[in-house]
Amino acid sequence: MSVHEYDAVVIGGGVSGIMASLHLSCKGYKTALISKGDPVCCLSTGCIDVFTGEGNPLEKISRLPKEHPYSLAGRETVIEALSFFRETVSRSGLPYVGDYERNRRIITPIGTVKNTCLVPLTMAGAEHAEGEYLHVVSFKGIKDFYPSYITSRIRSSAFSVFDAGVSTTLGIAAKFEEPAFLDTFISWLQGLEIPHDKIAIPAVLGTGNPVSIMEKISSAVGRTVFEIPTLPPSIPGLRLFRALKKALQEQGGHIYWGKGVTSVECQGEEIEAVTLATTGRSSRVQGKAFILATGSFVSGGLYATRETVRETVFNLPVSVPGERKDWFNADFFTAGHAIEKAGVEIDASFTPTATRLKNLFVCGSIIAGSEVMKNQCGHGLAVATGVAAAKMCEKRLS
Ligand SMILES: Cc1cc2nc3c(=O)[nH]c(=O)nc-3n(C[C@H](O)[C@H](O)[C@H](O)COP(=O)(O)OP(=O)(O)OC[C@H]3O[C@@H](n4cnc5c(N)ncnc54)[C@H](O)[C@@H]3O)c2cc1C
Repeated sequence: MSVHEYDAVVIGGGVSGIMASLHLSCKGYKTALISKGDPVCCLSTGCIDVFTGEGNPLEKISRLPKEHPYSLAGRETVIEALSFFRETVSRSGLPYVGDYERNRRIITPIGTVKNTCLVPLTMAGAEHAEGEYLHVVSFKGIKDFYPSYITSRIRSSAFSVFDAGVSTTLGIAAKFEEPAFLDTFISWLQGLEIPHDKIAIPAVLGTGNPVSIMEKISSAVGRTVFEIPTLPPSIPGLRLFRALKKALQEQGGHIYWGKGVTSVECQGEEIEAVTLATTGRSSRVQGKAFILATGSFVSGGLYATRETVRETVFNLPVSVPGERKDWFNADFFTAGHAIEKAGVEIDASFTPTATRLKNLFVCGSIIAGSEVMKNQCGHGLAVATGVAAAKMCEKRLS
């Protein structure tokens, strides 16, 4: 068995775990990030939802109960974390725009409106003003984008379809990285002589450098061009994940990817090490402090049986809303199924309340009461609690 030693060990490579690892690495702590797989962020629009609805998301956060993870993090940390996030992704070549005190209304792939706080620069033009003309470009055979739904909902709009020769979002995004393909696409677009103010394209403008592709198209046709997120799997979500992971690598964080934690060693009230599942010899990763960021049910941080819900790494007690029959609403689409409240309860120091472990901190959607879907606060909460937990971890390490 190989043995590795760190100051901090973060388990779970979603937005919360990467942000926590980045914070600690930037502060000079030797940090390891362990993740058994790609995070939920790869399925997302890539937009940073801070809190649902129209208006000021920060103001809404300030009215949450004191035990809500956002309240435990505190307004200053939420703003600090969002700013840190923006600086980080911008340095990784994926700039975001937005105002923490105003949700933007962006167009979705079915022509409805999504309220969100920070958006990739390629979606900066996605706020639609009444009366503004919009031309939507689609691709032959694409399944995760519905131009006719968009044009049926937006009065002054029309759409055209380009045959990219491939129909998956990832396939088309790869094509846009080829200069010859981009030139052919631009010639086709110029030939349409679109009279409209803005041109919307599904979010497939490459995986690596979408801003330069968007700018090249925009300057060639003399129109504002922007991306509309597609249904999952999503290229902007993938770009976000890659940008954060790249930032952590550049900051010197050590990443164990594709490896889940299989066992935990404790000494008294402290965790000493975790063991990783590997095909060859196993690895023992030691740390002075640990951060749990394994996400909720989707990523396997929580696991529901017929009777109860388990936390899968440390077997921490999980707060569960009533009996199983009370977990769901009959209407699937109703926001706020009670099961969303399930998770690990923490206190203001971001440590689990119902355990004696002193060097364990928790962040992200595994925290009890997050209600990420109901509150539409997924990445915002992950960013804020990732940094908040890392700051508490830092206090312990210093
Ligand atoms: C379809 C979909 C679309 C969404 N769209 C948006 C959106 O547009 N905007 C937004 O703000 N939010 C969105 N969300 C919510 C948001 O994606 C999540 O709330 C947020 O990314 C959760 O981050 P996290 O770090 O808590 O956990 P996760 O992203 O769930 O990451 C947890 C990680 O832990 C790893 N892990 C689990 N168990 C172990 C183990 N034993 N050992 C090692 N690693 C382990 C997993 O492999 C995973 O990588 C969406 C969610 C879904 C499901």
